[in-house]
Amino acid sequence: MKPAAFAYARPLDWSEALQLVASGARPAAGTQSLGPLLNLRLAQPDMLADLRHLPDYAGVTVTGDAIRIGAGTTHAAIEDGAVPGRTGAIMAGVARRIAYRPVRNRGTIGGSLAHADPAADWVAVMPALGATAIALGPRGERRIALDGFVTGIFETALASDELLRAVEVPVLPDAVGWGHWKFCRKIGEFSKVTACVLAVPGAAPRAVLAALDGPPRVIADASALMADTEAEATRIVSGFPELDDWRRAVAQTALMQAVAAASQP
Ligand SMILES: Cc1cc2nc3c(=O)[nH]c(=O)nc-3n(C[C@H](O)[C@H](O)[C@H](O)COP(=O)(O)OP(=O)(O)OC[C@H]3O[C@@H](n4cnc5c(N)ncnc54)[C@H](O)[C@@H]3O)c2cc1C
Repeated sequence: MKPAAFAYARPLDWSEALQLVASGARPAAGTQSLGPLLNLRLAQPDMLADLRHLPDYAGVTVTGDAIRIGAGTTHAAIEDGAVPGRTGAIMAGVARRIAYRPVRNRGTIGGSLAHADPAADWVAVMPALGATAIALGPRGERRIALDGFVTGIFETALASDELLRAVEVPVLPDAVGWGHWKFCRKIGEFSKVTACVLAVPGAAPRAVLAALDGPPRVIADASALMADTEAEATRIVSGFPELDDWRRAVAQTALMQAVAAASQP
């Protein structure tokens, strides 16, 4: 099937992009999710606003203890080391397991978060890393913690007149423990269950359980999960009675595997 006809706009600055969005244009990034929606006519916008030519839309800057990643930074750029240090190594490991390289060449971190597919990788990983979304709207920039950014299936805390401009992640120490485990039926497919654990020395460990048909479940203090992993993982997954038994069993395994990886020296 072909998309319904739409007009195409290429804003060259953010205020023009915001005006287009306010007048009903649909933002377009890598179009890896939007393209199929258009082709299936599940989305029929009158106009697309192609964000890819905006200044500072893609790229990475480090200021003090924060790394700002432009929303238009592709999964491939992150895979190839665009983000420095231990944070970058963690993110590169996640990026290289998103879909296939042709999808990663075009798909963006901002598009993925704004799309808010519950099974998407950054939707699970960004809250675990303690990231913050930088939204831009008519009233200026607004910071939204990624723990709470995704509010439902394909729903976010972005207002209809806002764009996701960047994501900020902390500079993590080398000694940080990290575990990321996802279950895909075959390589390149969306996850059926994802678990992440971040253990920063001197701070409460954080865990995320995601890809369970809803927003990610963030466990802000996962100390109990680290201490008594199997019992706590059983307790956490019992909070998802709507899932099939096999899915809860995989979720428990995901948590235990992520804890095991994060506990390695
Ligand atoms: C075959 C295939 C396999 C895939 N497998 C995976 C996978 O395993 N894991 C995974 O995480 N993802 C996967 N994806 C999705 C891929 O990661 C996409 O890159 C991502 O979902 C959307 O990013 P995009 O840049 O292409 O956004 P687009 O498709 O251009 O946009 C997606 C949505 O976000 C909106 N949007 C885009 N940018 C902004 C912005 N800056 N501000 C506000 N709204 C915005 C658009 O209007 C649209 O609604 C897969 C995709 C394909 C085609």
